[in-house]
Amino acid sequence: MKQFLVLLNDFDDIREKFSYAYEYIDKVNPASVLVHVFFGEWDVAAAKTLTAAINRTIPDAKIVGSVSCGEIFEGNLAALRCMAVVSVFDCTKIEVLTYKFHGGEEETTARRLAKDINARAETKAAEFLMAMAGYDKQKFIESIDINNKNLVVFGAGVTGVTNPTQTAFVSTNSGIVTCGMIAVFYEGTDFHVHVEHIFGWEPLGKEMTVTKSKPLLLMEVDGKPAYDVYSHYLQIPRTGNFFANILGFPFLTQDRQTDVVRLSHACDDNGYLSLSADIAKGSKLRITYGNLGEIFREVTAGRDKIRRFAPQAIMIYDCASRKMLWQTGTDQELQPFQKIAPTAGFFCEGEFKNNDKGLIVNHQCTLLAIGMREGEGKVIPATEAKIEELKFYTDSSIVKRMAAFVQTTTAELEKANSKLAALNSELSTINAKLSYMAVTDELTGLFNRREIDKRIQDAVAAAKDNNDVLSIIMIDIDHFKRVNDTYGHAVGDIVLKDAAAVIRDSLNENTMATAGRWGGEEFLVLLPSFSLSEATEFAETIRQKFAAHSFDTAGAQTLSLGVTATFGYEDEKNIFIRADDALYKAKTGGRNQVVSISAEDMKTVV
Ligand code: GH3
Ligand code: MG
Ligand code: MG
Repeated sequence: MKQFLVLLNDFDDIREKFSYAYEYIDKVNPASVLVHVFFGEWDVAAAKTLTAAINRTIPDAKIVGSVSCGEIFEGNLAALRCMAVVSVFDCTKIEVLTYKFHGGEEETTARRLAKDINARAETKAAEFLMAMAGYDKQKFIESIDINNKNLVVFGAGVTGVTNPTQTAFVSTNSGIVTCGMIAVFYEGTDFHVHVEHIFGWEPLGKEMTVTKSKPLLLMEVDGKPAYDVYSHYLQIPRTGNFFANILGFPFLTQDRQTDVVRLSHACDDNGYLSLSADIAKGSKLRITYGNLGEIFREVTAGRDKIRRFAPQAIMIYDCASRKMLWQTGTDQELQPFQKIAPTAGFFCEGEFKNNDKGLIVNHQCTLLAIGMREGEGKVIPATEAKIEELKFYTDSSIVKRMAAFVQTTTAELEKANSKLAALNSELSTINAKLSYMAVTDELTGLFNRREIDKRIQDAVAAAKDNNDVLSIIMIDIDHFKRVNDTYGHAVGDIVLKDAAAVIRDSLNENTMATAGRWGGEEFLVLLPSFSLSEATEFAETIRQKFAAHSFDTAGAQTLSLGVTATFGYEDEKNIFIRADDALYKAKTGGRNQVVSISAEDMKTVV
């Protein structure tokens, strides 16, 4: 491929101005010719006239255009009336499709575009030139579902934020698009493309959360008007040169799982910030700092990757905000590319690129360098393409030192915060352990006496309030002293644990029931809403299960169980006296048995 750059400060003698290009085209008879026109002057009528003139000069050329916030000519910023880039392809097929649409038609248009892309499986790259005022661009972009995840998507958008009194537009041979987009498809086995994305923004300060937002409006951050972030941390006034002041400090957030920066261009009376790309509610935000040194480092690295790709031409789509950030130093992020291949492009208001998952992302404040070639290409050695040292035009060394100070302090705070978070989580684990220990009997894992007593008190009060019945079972291991005396304390402990396990297993079938260790070899089971006969039956199953259990050393053991029920209309002590009495009767009645005493029985006894 071969590229011709044509500067147009007036529209006279167009044929003469394009003579190098069309003479070459006549000679080589190329596969296709693509002309990019960047209109520094946002004038629809002039754009139409110029496009028609180019069309007459190079009749077979596909002409695409966009209004521009500054033209990039041979790696330099050139503020022109207009600039044209004529790309002549030996064997690449170029196709241009136009999508004019309005707000409300985002999804249908995106589906139409995706269908067109998916129908062209051989396409290597798709370039989008978008005139984005008038529709929900986030919705539009997110609705483009491309099958070919290897397709390289790149492009630029214009909205008019940098030139609010005039209409932003893109164009083709067949007309002007003020609301919509143009897709340029590059197809050919010998066509190769490599996109470098230069970012360079460094986060400062703490992470915040977007608590209120809508398309193109960042309303609240951490529950406060979004503007507060800029007034609190940077003391930027809301009126006057708001845009110029925040230019170097856009927000870092994520869009479609990709780091993006978002720059506001105005602040309203509510402290809400206007954007030209969305930030969704719930997004995490941090302020960033436009570190020219870091940007230059990235440019150097990105440029070196493009150098190895050996392009024949490089297109640059650079955000208009970066031009303002660099001020007179803009060429420092453009010039390095020119040393590799003819470099042209323009300053835009949105850069598009698909991420590693094939999702198209709307970027801001970044630079896209698109290297293209047909065939193999020749790599220029690094020594020949040597980059000069960065010259600082806008960064005073004090600002640089201050930024370094803030970054270091931020990093230290983050480290301290994460340590604190780790300590906090350790503390909550310890607290959980402590609360468990406070209510649990260490040997058996059942509730301890204090806890089961408290639960019985609560259950008795609830039974009284709800006029409900509850029962308790007092359990005592028979002749337990003998186990200790015969086999030792350790074996006794095992019997205690197993007894607790038998009780717990029986309870598991009953979510409302709880049990605790009442003392030495005594246990207590609380059965809310159990009548005396139900509780007696339950006690009997525990007795049988335990009697059927054979301990490794101690052999078979038995339990005596005393059961009683209450509606809660009595002194709590009475309930325990009755249960104890029932247990005593079970012991004196020969052990290994369940005895129940109702409140009525007790009255008769008394
Ligand atoms: P009874 O059938 O009348 O209940 O006879 P018993 O031997 O079970 O009753 P007694 O009250 O005479 O003995 C209870 C024994 O339980 C005495 C005590 O040493 C033992 N004991 C209490 N707590 C523990 C413990 O945590 N571990 C062990 N191994 N023994 C314990
Ligand atoms: Mg006892
Ligand atoms: Mg006992």
